[in-house]
Amino acid sequence: METQPIITIPFIPGDGIGPEIMAAAQTVVDQSLEKAYGGKQRINWLECPAGKTAFEKTGQWLPAETLQTLKSHTASIKGPLTTPVGGGIRSLNVAMRQEMDLYVCQRPVRWYEGLPSPLRNPAGLDVVTFRENTEDIYTGIEYPAASPQQQAWLNSFRAAMPEDYAKIAHPEQCGIGIKPISKPNSQRLVRAAIQWALENKRKRLSIVHKGNIMKYTEGAFRAWGYEVADIEFTDETFSLQRYQAILKAGGAQSAEAVKKQALADGKLWVDDVIADVTFEQLITRPQQFDVIATTNLNGDYISDAIAALAGGVGVSPGANINYESGRAVFEANHGSAESLAGQNKANPSSLILSAVMMLRFLKLGEAADRIDQALAATIRAGQVTFDLAAQIPGAQLLGTREFAAAIISRL
Ligand code: NAD
Repeated sequence: METQPIITIPFIPGDGIGPEIMAAAQTVVDQSLEKAYGGKQRINWLECPAGKTAFEKTGQWLPAETLQTLKSHTASIKGPLTTPVGGGIRSLNVAMRQEMDLYVCQRPVRWYEGLPSPLRNPAGLDVVTFRENTEDIYTGIEYPAASPQQQAWLNSFRAAMPEDYAKIAHPEQCGIGIKPISKPNSQRLVRAAIQWALENKRKRLSIVHKGNIMKYTEGAFRAWGYEVADIEFTDETFSLQRYQAILKAGGAQSAEAVKKQALADGKLWVDDVIADVTFEQLITRPQQFDVIATTNLNGDYISDAIAALAGGVGVSPGANINYESGRAVFEANHGSAESLAGQNKANPSSLILSAVMMLRFLKLGEAADRIDQALAATIRAGQVTFDLAAQIPGAQLLGTREFAAAIISRL
């Protein structure tokens, strides 16, 4: 991708604390570009309405023009949106992901020295989760107990598979949810994760699943994931599955030798870990994880858990990406925190780090690196917003704008 001197980036300020943290992130990005490229590289910020603020002005939660603008630009960035409660309105974030087929939810989490962590030793924690973003139980095919849809579904199920129907304990009183997991969508997710891991010289990719129980959804995700690694990336990866095949055919010594050689040659080690074991190991030895590729629901839980280990969602960024179309929407991971709005208190780190991801996606790595190291130095110096200050002894409490200024002074 050729980088243009002026890149137009649509942005949604968002609701609640959104506009404040967006302004902080934009100033930091503008200044980093200035420092890194001396005026030769700029961003033209294009404001797009969405969320509660847009609804109050235009009567639409997600105006069609906003969606069209996001679809026609390589990268966009958004602040948190307040999800309307009730009234049958889908989550705007889910709507955006589905409309643009943003099939990867990518969440890198790194521990920065000085951040509070529940771990005894958080040093070296650096995990990037690739969460499948389009299917699993998030497709929203769900029927309440005793509803006409649930009854229609149960009737046809009973007619087609009476023995399985008999396994349902209380058919008349049970909600039904459907969990579709497909081969193409699983494989494009794992493909994107492997590609990213290789480009970023990562060492290990773990396929996380609950295939021991859900064989044809989660278990299939695992099998399809290995297929991508072993067939499409034969020369660049070495997998646990290939290791086990050699073990079976030639014994432990030859399997070990082949693995040792593959890793010495810089190949990416691809293995799989059951979801519950992943949580256990994340708490006891998180440094062993590197890149995780997983299904939608697992990814939802796991990425928040990893964020908590590294200082919380306030400092963990995220992006929704379609690596095939090259479109991406970068976003803060937390919500709109309405009670903090307009007080210059909110922590803008999550959105700033999302902007760092965006700059890397746009191949503006030098500006990204500058922000990353400046943010790390600011936290290390104990200069933080109120959410972190309360947990760091001797911290200097800064407002949203002052925290951004402290980062800029270190660019
Ligand atoms: P929230 O993330 O807004 O707040 C949870 C807690 O974290 C609150 O105590 C809040 O004060 C604090 N917090 C959040 N961001 C902070 C920041 N940057 N700095 C300091 N403290 C911060 O979650 P919620 O209250 O469950 O949700 C509020 C609204 O946001 C809801 O409408 C929800 O649907 C929406 N939401 C949107 C997104 C998104 O747009 N991606 C994500 C989550 C929630």
